[in-house]
Amino acid sequence: MRFSRFFLPTLKETPAEAEVISHKLMLRAGMIRKLAAGIYSYLPLGLRVLRKVEAIVREEMNKAGAQEVVLPMVQPAELWQESGRWEFYGKELLRFKDRHARDCCLGPTHEEVITDLVRREVRSYRDMPLNLYQIQTKFRDEIRPRFGLMRGREFVMKDGYSFDVDEKASGKTYLAMYAAYQNVFRRLGLQFRAVEADTGSIGGSFSHEFMVLAETGEDTIVSCTGCDYAANIEKAEVVWSEKGQIKSNTPSRPMEKVATPGRRTVEEVTTFMGIPPQQLVKTLIFLVDGQPVAVLVRGDHEVNEIKLKNLLQAREIALADEALIRRITGAPVGYSGPVGLPVKIVADQAIQGMYDCVAGANEEGHHLVHVDAGRDIHADLYGDIRSVTAGDRCPRCKQPIRLSRGIEVGHIFRLGTKYSEALKATYLDGEGQERYMVMGCYGIGVSRIVAAAIEQGHDESGIIFPVAIAPFDVLLLPVNVNDTVIREAAEDIYHEFLSRGVHVLLDDRDERAGIKFKDADLTGIPFRITIGTKFTKEGLLEIKVRGTGETLFVTREQLVQTLLNMHSERIPRCLQQG
Ligand code: ATP
Ligand code: MG
Repeated sequence: MRFSRFFLPTLKETPAEAEVISHKLMLRAGMIRKLAAGIYSYLPLGLRVLRKVEAIVREEMNKAGAQEVVLPMVQPAELWQESGRWEFYGKELLRFKDRHARDCCLGPTHEEVITDLVRREVRSYRDMPLNLYQIQTKFRDEIRPRFGLMRGREFVMKDGYSFDVDEKASGKTYLAMYAAYQNVFRRLGLQFRAVEADTGSIGGSFSHEFMVLAETGEDTIVSCTGCDYAANIEKAEVVWSEKGQIKSNTPSRPMEKVATPGRRTVEEVTTFMGIPPQQLVKTLIFLVDGQPVAVLVRGDHEVNEIKLKNLLQAREIALADEALIRRITGAPVGYSGPVGLPVKIVADQAIQGMYDCVAGANEEGHHLVHVDAGRDIHADLYGDIRSVTAGDRCPRCKQPIRLSRGIEVGHIFRLGTKYSEALKATYLDGEGQERYMVMGCYGIGVSRIVAAAIEQGHDESGIIFPVAIAPFDVLLLPVNVNDTVIREAAEDIYHEFLSRGVHVLLDDRDERAGIKFKDADLTGIPFRITIGTKFTKEGLLEIKVRGTGETLFVTREQLVQTLLNMHSERIPRCLQQG
């Protein structure tokens, strides 16, 4: 490709709309442009990267025995009503009517469509295992689309679905997909980690998320310093021990109400009373499927809404608003407490042993002291409903844990018979018995990967792409195209690379060298070959490695071999083929 003909509108200034670095750099490097909130056009440079990611995903899926299909993006409501998700999915599902006033939606995911396809075609155990995938645009009407391709409303996903005869076979498929995902992310050249993930209403530890490690990630990863346990914080289990609890040998004193005027937050109350946050019972009022529930955690802990939702087997939970809190507790926000509260009370397991502690008095400007959980708190249910903190221990080996951040780029899930039962996807086994197919689903955020790769690979000058997904392998940069020797050398090298299948961008613009170097750094192409005065005087070409900044000088004859020796996923392969 010739730069002079390439649609590559780079920007000097960072557009104000972008907050995170990948979004800024993708706009500046002319990879994407915004059409509407969370909806982007891919320009040629961006599309080349996206296609390279797709190609690796496709190769690994095919290698693992999955077959590619393309399923419709527009889906009839009836299928979603059959699975129950027309109601359940909420506002992320973009619904509309066609000209015959039939309800439809844009596919945010394809469990319904694939299960419908397979139930019509597959009859016998002999037709399984069956593993189908697609790489396609999804639409989710995200409440807060942001960070460019990271959380779009329209985005590209690889979604795969497997059908097996029983749980055992499905588990085997799951493991094969897990391994394929490891291969995908390794080949993409990303630092990543597979973590245990929440399985929601299905249960079991049969879900893993693949996280690209990056400070800017939206997800918190919990990993053990001693063993290989790693989990999303949504899921990471708390090992509860009585250690760290405030205990006293003196017998319980009677509860007492004290004035805490204007003190509402944990910090304000504990400072005012001169107690550590571990000695405070934090009471939050939630609406759980429309019913008010009081949720208790220790002052130094945070409620984990996913755990709470799972424990209560709820469809929807949300914090109550100020008006409801007043109605239930008789006091404004900040003074809620469990004693005498006329609603269901759910408490974190750490509340159980709390002794001589402080809680809201359900009266404005007042708290209770000397609260003894065993005596004064009558919880309907105790459970693990808080998030792990840095001070917690590994649930497997009890070693200290570490918290870090990541971007979820893949998610694999054992579905069991959730969809096959809802949509009656059955087969006949060897004995002629009708059985439900056992399913799995496997997603990869293809467009999110492009953003994640840039979050992980960049410096102040621009993008540093992993070689495997760079838009071009090599940027050929003649510093002055009006110099005949330089221009001809550039053309000669350009054609050799093209004929060998190297993805090369020739910066043939009649521009100042400084501008060309800036664009070279910005676009993140792994190898830059500069043809300048060193070439006209000494016959030397400069190779600069974008990732390390390393430069070396070679003759025209040494060029190809030197690139070959610079270990990289793609370049040696395509040069060797030539
Ligand atoms: P998230 O928690 O980030 O919303 P999810 O759990 O809804 O993700 P899945 O339904 O498992 O995501 O989708 C599979 C993959 O698709 C995710 O792992 C992620 O990489 C990608 N993905 C999901 N939502 C978006 C989005 N709005 N924009 C870009 N990629 C997305
Ligand atoms: Mg989501």
